[in-house]
Amino acid sequence: MRRTDNSVKRNETLARRSFSEGEMRVSGGRGGTSIVRWIRSGTKTEGGQSGELPGLVDIGSYKHEKALAISRLEALSADAHALLDEHLVRALSPCLTSSFQAESVVLLHLLRQLKPDIPVLFLETMHHFPETHTYRDELAERWNLNLINLQAERPSPGLWQQSTDACCALHKVGPLFSALSNYDTWFTGLRREQSPSRANLSEVEPFTLPGGAVLTKVSPLARWTTREVWEYAKAYDIPLLPLYAQGYTSIGCAPCTSLPIEAGNERSGRWGGRKLECGIHIQGK
Ligand code: SF4
Repeated sequence: MRRTDNSVKRNETLARRSFSEGEMRVSGGRGGTSIVRWIRSGTKTEGGQSGELPGLVDIGSYKHEKALAISRLEALSADAHALLDEHLVRALSPCLTSSFQAESVVLLHLLRQLKPDIPVLFLETMHHFPETHTYRDELAERWNLNLINLQAERPSPGLWQQSTDACCALHKVGPLFSALSNYDTWFTGLRREQSPSRANLSEVEPFTLPGGAVLTKVSPLARWTTREVWEYAKAYDIPLLPLYAQGYTSIGCAPCTSLPIEAGNERSGRWGGRKLECGIHIQGK
């Protein structure tokens, strides 16, 4: 169908200068990229020169990059769904850990379409931002989540001032590993792009708990980029933790979270750059 808006007219002019047939990509006038298809028309002049301008007979014009992004997102979502489905079918007792950061909320959105009552394990470290608690509770109510808050038997608020390793071990690693012994399949929102410490993350891998029990750890978003996570959230109208609007790129406990200090390393603002992991995802290997 022939389009007559200004961007197409301008594209016609550009194309007539350098193309006579085929397909080309040109920048459109409204922020997108268009594919325009041309074929030669008219009759030859006596000199055999092309005395006619190519005729525009068909234009498949659309916002190409946006369309590519949507199809990429659909493909990623379909792959993630397939992986989730495959492991949910096998699992006797699956669970998801969620910090309520963007990727874990996107994964939760995908998972609850298949298993709405999946246990959602949240580590109540007693050091979270108030915004994290508010957001967690709002989403739990809105999505009717089967939320399970995990807490150390004897918490020690402020321990991070003496040792972040001891504090993480007490408030994160211990309670989670203890809880995970009740499950056989562990879904996580981990992604390779989040940090150099996660660059070699596998989508599916065995995870051995300190007591020897082995779970299947599944990270369906392992290859997703940050941009794709945000595109998904936008496409499905999922509100994200408001702290992102303040510039945080990775959000954990308040005393150990700052704005990123290294470009391209989302987790570089955690623990003042002194470490990248709390211990959960590097133990048991
Ligand atoms: S992130 Fe900080 S406050 Fe939270 S458990 Fe680890 S050391 Fe403690």
